[in-house]
Amino acid sequence: MSLSFLTTAAQVRTRVAALAAQGRPLALVPTMGCLHAGHLALVEAAKGRLGPEGGGVAALSLFVNPLQFGPHEDFGRYPRQLEEDRGVCERVGIDWLYAPPAQEVYPPGFQTYVSCEALSLPLCGQSRPGHFRGVATVVCKLLALFRPRWAVFGEKDFQQLCLIRALNRDLDLGVEIVGVPIIREADGLALSSRNKLLSATERRQATALFRVLSTARQRCCEGERRAWVLKEEAERGLLEAGIRMDYVAIVDEVGLAPVEPIEGRGIRMLVAGFAGGIRLIDNIALPCPD
Ligand code: AMP
Repeated sequence: MSLSFLTTAAQVRTRVAALAAQGRPLALVPTMGCLHAGHLALVEAAKGRLGPEGGGVAALSLFVNPLQFGPHEDFGRYPRQLEEDRGVCERVGIDWLYAPPAQEVYPPGFQTYVSCEALSLPLCGQSRPGHFRGVATVVCKLLALFRPRWAVFGEKDFQQLCLIRALNRDLDLGVEIVGVPIIREADGLALSSRNKLLSATERRQATALFRVLSTARQRCCEGERRAWVLKEEAERGLLEAGIRMDYVAIVDEVGLAPVEPIEGRGIRMLVAGFAGGIRLIDNIALPCPD
């Protein structure tokens, strides 16, 4: 199947209806574009779910969602490269690329929003009020439009993944939400479209995020169970590297509530900070004692 380039909800709806009539499944990968190897891991996971027979459809949406950017954030600066991304989609065997203009997603009169309550509040929600309402609204629209069997998201945006699992459950959308582990550069920096915006100095500073996470994981393996100690060490590590910290947190992976001490399964450490003006996030699973 060659790549279909779609820009309107009506085009998607027609194709989704035809697909459903034939009983063929769809896997959706929502992105904001500027595609990198992290996104391609999501595509691989989507294609893996569809299986080798080729009966299903792999769809990728590309939309820089204005609703999830605050008034002083980098919506205008966010990197965009639609033609390149279109070529990438063709190369990796995406069947449908949906890249709507903003007025298609939010036409005049748009007034219905989705907000996940408790999961929107901590961590990134503290410094980015309204961000997760924007995310939840656009993801909900995409899931309602595409009616995928699977929707694939990265663990890189861990809070976002938790929130999407919650909205899928709470609104009975019935999609299988697939989470994909973080893809990193050789020096550990998590791939992100925003990495393109880093200067050489900031790029060096940015490696501190994964470094402090790895150190904490190592300390935890060696037996340090006090979350506050690991947090303080990580905060110091970020400061020394010149990162302006937003938060360091050790939380349970479902409810994102702080954990103290570190015991039991499903605990994750998350960090967010600025290298120069560029906001970066990362996270790592902490080992559980047996
Ligand atoms: P974005 O285009 O940044 O909105 O990301 C689109 C999807 O790709 C989200 O589900 C992200 O979590 C995921 N993603 C972005 N970077 C990575 C990465 N380095 N590894 C794994 N998934 C990623």
